Amino acid sequence: MLEGLVQHDHPLTLQHVLSRMRTVHRESEIVTLTDKGTERATYAEVCERADRLANVLTNKLGIEPGDRVATFAWNTQNHLEVYLAAPCIGAVLHTLNLRLFEEQLTYIANHAKDRVVFVDSTVVPLMEKVADTFETVEHFVIMGGDGDPGSLPNALNYEELLADQPAEYDYPEVDDRSAAGLCYTSGTTGNPKGVLYSHRSQILHSFGTCLADAMGLQEADTVLPIVPMFHANSWGIPYAAGLVGCDLVMPGQFLQAEPLAKLIKEEKVTISAAVPTIWMDLLKHADTKDDVDLSSLRTVICGGAAVPLSLMKQFEERHGVHIVQAWGMTEMSPLGTVARPPADVSEDEHWGFRDRAGRLMPLVEARLVQDDGGEAPWDGESTGELQVRGPWIASAYYEDPEGDDKFDDGWLRTGDIASIDSRGFVRITDRSKDVIKSGGEWISSVELEGELMAHPEVEEAAVIARPDERWTERPLACVVLSEGASASPEDLTEHLKSRVAKWWLPEEFAFIDEVPKTSVGKFDKKMLRQRLADGDLETKPVSEKVG
Ligand code: AMP
Repeated sequence: MLEGLVQHDHPLTLQHVLSRMRTVHRESEIVTLTDKGTERATYAEVCERADRLANVLTNKLGIEPGDRVATFAWNTQNHLEVYLAAPCIGAVLHTLNLRLFEEQLTYIANHAKDRVVFVDSTVVPLMEKVADTFETVEHFVIMGGDGDPGSLPNALNYEELLADQPAEYDYPEVDDRSAAGLCYTSGTTGNPKGVLYSHRSQILHSFGTCLADAMGLQEADTVLPIVPMFHANSWGIPYAAGLVGCDLVMPGQFLQAEPLAKLIKEEKVTISAAVPTIWMDLLKHADTKDDVDLSSLRTVICGGAAVPLSLMKQFEERHGVHIVQAWGMTEMSPLGTVARPPADVSEDEHWGFRDRAGRLMPLVEARLVQDDGGEAPWDGESTGELQVRGPWIASAYYEDPEGDDKFDDGWLRTGDIASIDSRGFVRITDRSKDVIKSGGEWISSVELEGELMAHPEVEEAAVIARPDERWTERPLACVVLSEGASASPEDLTEHLKSRVAKWWLPEEFAFIDEVPKTSVGKFDKKMLRQRLADGDLETKPVSEKVG
């Protein structure tokens, strides 16, 4: 090796994010919406509080390197402080999902062996329901609001703890391959599975996130992460923002269209990120209210589920908002692909690229594995299970051998069925467990849903398989109509006829009030399938003439 050419083996740790926020980006701002209005702080102030918190964790709570420090919180400045302090002292930040069922929370906190939980005062009542089932938790620290701990045992007050500790901290050397974060995914069967993120993987992921062809965060941006900090670290935004110094706007518990639209207008938000259901609500709000101004938004990152083309088009045409679709998984930190069309595509082709999961990001490698174990070619047509690997992609679940079958020789089996074209653009045709197998052929529920949601009277559509004697399975379209709309199964079939193959057309529709959602706001098809099995879903056949 030519010694003189070797770079310094500098550790890639989150301590560097903290140090940049303290120095280079000390004047950048974080704004949090609370029930008393917005609260503001500079990055320098956040870092000082993170230093105090580092002292609290080590001196007061006895947290050692490797210990799990949990949060049960919305997107707020306080939450960001725990995001910084816990990993920087060598502990592991574990973000608990506020919306999980009680049994899942109990399982996760005990499996992770959390020692302390930082709880937003607004969700103390939720924590009270499960606190006494947490076997390893020694303290609950109440953040924000009136600080009322309710009946939580061994409760401490965040502000009092910080005030009591010095504002300097001597951070230890941390191995960049050690764990910095832990997030559980409930996307698989059985118990939730823990995904560990190392310091190195988070720094590399933050770099990837900031690429212009990915989220493209830059110093001049004001970023509103709506996706919760407990959903794959808010898709990596907090650390990426700290690295490049963009301002952060935290919505707290206010995730409804009205306060979000107000925040975007008042704080002149330039980039935001959330699952499609949030943007569906915002579109409806923007369409009906006069005082909405979304003109500051230059990019909206949308993913976590297929983004309906109609949603992207309507936002762009009616409000000038550019939605960029992305695909990823908790196991992938989470970013894997981003749908920015190549420069040379014609206007006609443009939406065809925007409608896909997107192009593989640098450092993310992929393959499509077919049922016989062979690999499908990247021809944009052949499909297989999408498998990925890379420096921010998990290679195992945390202490959970039950999940080993999700990994194959360093590759993560995503469970998504996809095609990839010759330029690395991925199209997700379905989740393997949502795919509808009819007469031996696959029907893409995702595509049917997208086409149904393009109907002007359809607000939401989820397509599931219903058992069929002759074809094994047939699609059942569960549809939510917009207020006052009256589209019939025949109208919807007419609409679909020119858009999908004839044999894909559902023979039955179920008109429902709302598509049930998972804890991270995605369509919960498992719940719909259960309702169907329980005979709890009223279906309407399409009259023979039309179908
Ligand atoms: P989670 O770990 O909760 O983020 O869920 C990851 C799963 O969400 C993926 O495996 C996909 O099935 C789904 N998903 C995420 N983004 C997209 C997208 N843009 N299109 C289709 N499915 C998506």
